[in-house]
Amino acid sequence: MTKPHVAIAVPVPIAELFTYEWPFDTPPVQGMRCLVPFGRRHLVGVVWEELEPSLWQGKGLKSVAKLVDDQPFFRHSLIQLIQFMSQYYCHPIGEVVKGAMPAATSHAGGKKKVCLTALGGRELAEQTPMGLELKKTFGQRASLTLSTLKKKNIDLKPLLKGGYVETSSEEAWSVRTFVGNKSGGEPLVVGDKPVLTHEQLEVYQGLNQKVIEGKGTGLLHGVTGSGKTEIFLHLIEEVLNRDLSDQVLVMVPEIALTPQMTRVFSQRFPGRVAVVHSQLTPKKRWEELAKISSGSASVLIGPRSALFAPFSRLKLLIVDEEHDSSYKQTSGLCYHSRDMAVLLGTFEGSFVLLASATPSLESYHHARTGKYAYFPLTSRAVSKSLPKIHLLAMKPEKKYGTAIGAVEEAHIPLSSEVVAAIHETLARQEQVIILVNKRGYSYFLFDMEKKEALQCPQCRISLTLHQRNRVLICHSCDHYRWVSDLDPAHKNRYLAVGYGSQQAEAYLGQLFPKAAIARLDSDNAAHRDTLYQTLEQFRQGEIDILVGTQILAKGHDYPRVTLTVLLEVDQILNLPDFRAGERTFQLMVQAAGRSGRGDQPGRVLVQSMQSSHPVVQAGVEQNFPLFAERELALRRSIGYPPFGRLVTIEWSSPKRESVEGLMKAAEQWVERREEWAKRWVQVFGPAVPGVDFLKGQHRRMVSFLSTQVQPLHKISQDFMTQFGSRRELRFKIDVDPQSMI
Ligand code: ADP
Ligand code: ZN
Repeated sequence: MTKPHVAIAVPVPIAELFTYEWPFDTPPVQGMRCLVPFGRRHLVGVVWEELEPSLWQGKGLKSVAKLVDDQPFFRHSLIQLIQFMSQYYCHPIGEVVKGAMPAATSHAGGKKKVCLTALGGRELAEQTPMGLELKKTFGQRASLTLSTLKKKNIDLKPLLKGGYVETSSEEAWSVRTFVGNKSGGEPLVVGDKPVLTHEQLEVYQGLNQKVIEGKGTGLLHGVTGSGKTEIFLHLIEEVLNRDLSDQVLVMVPEIALTPQMTRVFSQRFPGRVAVVHSQLTPKKRWEELAKISSGSASVLIGPRSALFAPFSRLKLLIVDEEHDSSYKQTSGLCYHSRDMAVLLGTFEGSFVLLASATPSLESYHHARTGKYAYFPLTSRAVSKSLPKIHLLAMKPEKKYGTAIGAVEEAHIPLSSEVVAAIHETLARQEQVIILVNKRGYSYFLFDMEKKEALQCPQCRISLTLHQRNRVLICHSCDHYRWVSDLDPAHKNRYLAVGYGSQQAEAYLGQLFPKAAIARLDSDNAAHRDTLYQTLEQFRQGEIDILVGTQILAKGHDYPRVTLTVLLEVDQILNLPDFRAGERTFQLMVQAAGRSGRGDQPGRVLVQSMQSSHPVVQAGVEQNFPLFAERELALRRSIGYPPFGRLVTIEWSSPKRESVEGLMKAAEQWVERREEWAKRWVQVFGPAVPGVDFLKGQHRRMVSFLSTQVQPLHKISQDFMTQFGSRRELRFKIDVDPQSMI
């Protein structure tokens, strides 16, 4: 008797499924993992579908080597989602499958990992010479495989000896215990909770109805501090009260938000909350996910990858701070996890709740046109009113920069109103948050002789000065060089220009020597202990002034903060990106949202050199409709999202001739512009992007805009068919790009 044939999705960058023979007695089931021979290796694949054996034309069909699971690893809705993502994002199905599998589950086992130790993490946060080396090697990750390190030519010995890293060998098959059944039995315990306000109750009831119906998407548009989190908690409690085997996904944008979220959720539902984030080792991450697959946890809190968690009964999907751009992955498979959550909800037959104080214009537009149900919350839960934003008009500073040879104190432009407000707040023993746009000490170092800023040799962007005048770091590739290695005889040749979070921290220290000041930006928040400690100290009142970058504007709830200062909004406003206005408005409102959340009224001060700009004005009033209507009208007039869709294709290579070669060919290709226009696609470019050299790669790009998906996919495929096989080039297709820079 002929054995069944199966199509297997194998985690390789090839856009097709592979056919194998199924040698086992148990029939193949969609979504099961199995080990298949692939070239000279064995890889973990996923059963996609059973095929008719008579269709096989070729010779020498290989057999599946081993079964990994005895039941599906991916449930049907995830298979549907992956299939969709592969098509929509023009990405090989095997790679989507790989991206959807937690690291420990997609390789054949036995891979040695090298992880940062707590000491390594601290070095990284403090930007010591060792820390800078570690950052260059590890980037944002907490662990790397041994083979990756070998490829990077890293000598492990000194790192191991110094205790900065440790090795662990992760047994991939230890994650085999994929149990589909429920622990059940234990009654739900719910922690203390407040009584909902009248407005909250109404919204809650409406949403609860939607959750019961189990379909559609809702937008919870609640001003900062209106109790959106409280509404999530009430909804979840109801879901679990109805059926304790139901589960809920809560997506959060940034790792910086999770300690607080985790605490609130774990207090409310003791023992029933699992959490994943990017700094967990693959093993720990899988242990959290296994709580979901076994049913011992009911709620999963996590970033975008949590979308692919092994739920068995996902009843409700919540996307908190849905406007946040970190929901979009920007390399490899460029998917938007908010949009994919909406889709997963449809496949699951579950309600999806998007929430924000400053919804993305996409979601707001869907709510306005009735595609999403709209639930506004207009007042704060505790304090009576939103804090007012005061705009302080600033003038450009006359002095361009400071010679690094001169012994200068730190300096940032701070209006006298801000200084006075900080004094008053500290005198009342309340807390202050100061928001800066950039991490580091100064924006860049200007070489007076060459008349240019010092650039990264691997990227066409300037290096940022860190730790006063010690080291220059590239914010794109982590390349660094010591300031002491610059022309030592002529320190006055270099001017430090602009300021970042480190200089702000130093300056505030000079102005308020008695205050306890701490800084939080992605430099030190990359180390989880530092992040947790700092936030905890702030919560306990041991820190008076917290200085930081945008990560401080997001979602935090510290009732004793009564003053938030946004040092400048101009930099974001002037970014060459069509979402610059939207980002500016969001930042202003979110920053204001951190102030006056408790009993005491809050104040917000915003310094700007463009105080009459309409976006800044709408931000000052925290008037979302005013901002949105104007911005939507603008977008409509040029057919940009949410009215049209964009696709960008970027090609890159270390060889300039190669990218230029395709640039010329693409120029001829887009001569067919008119033909495309008939099919409702506008073509922009090919063009040289603002940063045309990044991480050692020259880049060029072309963009397509259309109101319809089909022609966009067609033209992208056309382009790739025509040029995609140029071997010396790397291609990146970004569907619905979040940034156009
Ligand atoms: P949001 O997520 O909308 O910013 P939160 O859910 O964090 O708002 O609520 C803000 C603060 O108000 C929190 O400290 C929360 O505990 C509190 N809060 C929310 N709803 C109520 C309520 N009905 N009664 C008392 N306190 C509440
Ligand atoms: Zn660089």
